[in-house]
Amino acid sequence: MTKIHADTSRCIGAGQCVLTDPDAFDQDDAAGIVIVLRPEPPDDAAVTRARQAVLICPSQALSLEQ
Ligand code: SF4
Repeated sequence: MTKIHADTSRCIGAGQCVLTDPDAFDQDDAAGIVIVLRPEPPDDAAVTRARQAVLICPSQALSLEQ
């Protein structure tokens, strides 16, 4: 099972992950730091979106565990 990890100490609140997959990611109201809503993508399409979020994150705060 693929798992999404977020290093909140690296997150700069750019919000690209939320734009890429709003079902999996949100941002807190204060600083915009990432919140992983759904750590385990439920299907292949969700895994693909999670991969895109990892690639697009400007601070490399996101990673996938296979
Ligand atoms: S794209 Fe990266 S830096 Fe931006 S909110 Fe998401 S995890 Fe944080």
